[in-house]
Order: sequence, then structure tokens, then C-alpha cells
Amino acid sequence: MSELSRREVLAGASLLTGGILAAGGPAALAASQAPSSAPAGAAPAATGPYTLSPLPYDYADLEPHIDAQTMKLHHDIHHAGYVKNANAAFAELDAVRRQGGADVQRVRAITDALTFNLAGHALHEIFWTNMKRDGGGEPAAGSEIGKLIQRDFGTFAAFSAQFSAAAAQVQASGWGIAAYDPLAERLLVLQAEKHQNLAVWGVTPVLVIDVWEHAYYLKYQNRRTDYIKAWWNVVNWDDADKRLQAAMKAK
Ligand code: MN
Repeated sequence: MSELSRREVLAGASLLTGGILAAGGPAALAASQAPSSAPAGAAPAATGPYTLSPLPYDYADLEPHIDAQTMKLHHDIHHAGYVKNANAAFAELDAVRRQGGADVQRVRAITDALTFNLAGHALHEIFWTNMKRDGGGEPAAGSEIGKLIQRDFGTFAAFSAQFSAAAAQVQASGWGIAAYDPLAERLLVLQAEKHQNLAVWGVTPVLVIDVWEHAYYLKYQNRRTDYIKAWWNVVNWDDADKRLQAAMKAK
């Protein structure tokens, strides 16, 4: 694993949160909700119900497709910030309840922050384990996800084309998501804006790609479709299959 100095990491973080993302529009909103001063290199101690899981591999393990510096910033700064802010929202709601719970404006604002940060935390926890070194290819022929992709999309090529298009076309910051829908008992391809908008209740995400600029800008700049194409080379199909099997069983 290539070691990055704390200085480089912090410089990169300020580039992402203060520079590129602060250009305006939804990206500026994202920057205002992104962490700017979380410590590099270490997961913060849990001070609420949510904890940041360590990456299940080294920062450099997904190279050349996803670079080590992006992985370090993304996990240790951005994802850590969502965890910290979700816990903070929990604590603030607790304080509001102790004061009688009638502060409508604060409840609204804190609930909004909780939703954004918790949705971000939940999706990143799936995202990291959805990837691995030397991943990619197609799901194993006998796997549940391989079977459902065939049944619900016709071919793997048709599925991956639709998933890539959905991810590429997310407006501003968001996610491409393949999810199991227990109502139709099938796989769906969905989009999320930010982390929480366009969400559907009751479905279980099994394969997700982060298409926020912080997920690819250092290596790919504005070329989101190149990043998506490269990401297919690190997909951990065993993890996606495990998630699908659990979702099907839970119904
Ligand atoms: Mn992210």
C-alpha cells in the first residue's frame, strides 16, 4: 500500500470540499454538508449509534481503477463525516426531546441532516464491500444474482448497460443502485440524488456505485463515464450475491 502523508491527504480534502465542489449549485450544497476537518487516517470513536467500518482491503488495492488517495479521502474523511454527522443529529434530537420536543424548525432541520448523513453512511457501507481487488467480470453462472440478472434484464450486457447509464445520468451528486424489490420479487436499477432522494421504501440495495465527484475527480476529473467503466473491474460479485440472497430470504 502506498503511504500518503497527512499533508497530502488534507490538501486533497480541501481541494474537494473547498475547491471543486464549491463551484456552485447542488455541488456547493454538497460541500456545505461534507466534513472538512475530520482527522485523516483513523476512524473516529463512535459517539452514537453509528460506526465507520474499516475498509476490507488496503487503500491501493483497487488500483489502477480507483486510486489510493481517492480511497483514503473518500473513506477516512467523507464517509467518516457522514457517520459523525449522523451521530451528531441523533444527539441533537435527544436534546430537543429533553426540551419538550416542540421546536418544529429544529426537528425539521435535524431530521433532514439525519436523513442525508445516515443514507450516506448506509450506502458507503455497501459500496466498500461491493468492491475488491481483482474483482469484475460477470457473476458466477449458478449464483442467485447471475440468475436474476438473466431473468429480469435478459443478458448481463443489458443489465450493465442500463446500470451504467443510470449511474452516468444521475443529476449532480448521487448513486447508481441495483436493488431487490420484494413486491415484484425482482431486481431493479435505481438512481439516488445526494444519498437519500429518489429512494424507494422496502427495497434492498445489493450493488451500488458512488458517482459523487469525490469518488472519482482526482483521477478522472469530469470523465464520470470512464470512472464507471473502470469500476466494473473491481465489482465483488460474491458480496452482491450474498446481499441479494439475504434480501430474498428476509421477505
Ligand atoms: Mn461518497
